[in-house]
Amino acid sequence: MRRAITGVLFASAVLLAVPRAYAASGVKIGLSLPTQREERWVRDRKVMEEEAKKAGIDLRVQVTDNDASKQVAQCENLLSQGIKVLILAPHDASSASVIVDKASKAGVKVISYDRLVTDSPLDYYYLSFDNVKVGELQGQFITGKVPKGNYVVLAGSPTDNNAKLFRAGAMKFIEPLAKKGDIKIVMDQWVKDWQPAEAQKIMEQALTSSGNKVDAVLAPNDGTAGGVIQALAAQGLAGKVPVTGQDAELAGAIRIMQGTQAMTIFKDTRELGKKAIAMAVDLANGKPIDTQGKVVNNNKKDIPSVLLTPQIVTKENLEKVLIDSGYLKKQQVFKKS
Ligand code: BGC
Repeated sequence: MRRAITGVLFASAVLLAVPRAYAASGVKIGLSLPTQREERWVRDRKVMEEEAKKAGIDLRVQVTDNDASKQVAQCENLLSQGIKVLILAPHDASSASVIVDKASKAGVKVISYDRLVTDSPLDYYYLSFDNVKVGELQGQFITGKVPKGNYVVLAGSPTDNNAKLFRAGAMKFIEPLAKKGDIKIVMDQWVKDWQPAEAQKIMEQALTSSGNKVDAVLAPNDGTAGGVIQALAAQGLAGKVPVTGQDAELAGAIRIMQGTQAMTIFKDTRELGKKAIAMAVDLANGKPIDTQGKVVNNNKKDIPSVLLTPQIVTKENLEKVLIDSGYLKKQQVFKKS
């Protein structure tokens, strides 16, 4: 008996000692990304490809180019390739529940990556940043800088659950001041597919209709901030009107140092990508993820969630946060300043 127990203990010790890379060797994992247009998604992909390589995983990547039905078709294709786990960043939160359905029928575990899949009654995991916090950081910053005046409020794509969370977070700060009459919202719009050109157009309209009387702009990410700043620049207002951002894109960082963009939010996609692959390996090995009780509601149920912490970046801490951490290169950021 004792020998049997010792044997079991020994076997478990050997199993525990097996490195992750060995345990995952050859396992197929699918990755479905919404786009490669924003720099961040290019980074997410690169990190996950590198991590997968280290872990000996066969990572199969598809990019949907902001097309919900293409995403369904691509994921069906990944499922037919025998993947064990699907890392899914949905273009359209709600319609992507069909993908979770199909994955579940195929016995494939799903990690909703960065963006939450909504309206599914099935089991999956959510791995992202605290996105309400992202919006809160933007809202707190902009209302701190401009507590009174005319605001343009932009939100991201209405099909992206993150866009709703960012907006909700920011409005916690903007709305009370709007109710008080200190802030007047002169434009309030969602930006289709997060398109910078669309943001620029909306900003041009806001400037025209207000006679250039805009005091602050809530732009949800660096891409849309870029569009807004182009519209401001055409009126000689770039740098005079604070504009928020998100993603710590190189172009955003350059604008911050030049003074045309007031802030960005750093979400370290290196950490997110690493975590996604680690979670996928665990799931492929049949190991449930301990999310320590953290959940996010998807309109139908609470989804166990892992949420990383976003960080605000302004001219004051940019060098420390983005350059010292190796996220951006100093010579690139300061090249045009
Ligand atoms: C991401 C942002 C990104 C935006 C546009 C959001 O879901 O969280 O980082 O800027 O999509 O791609």
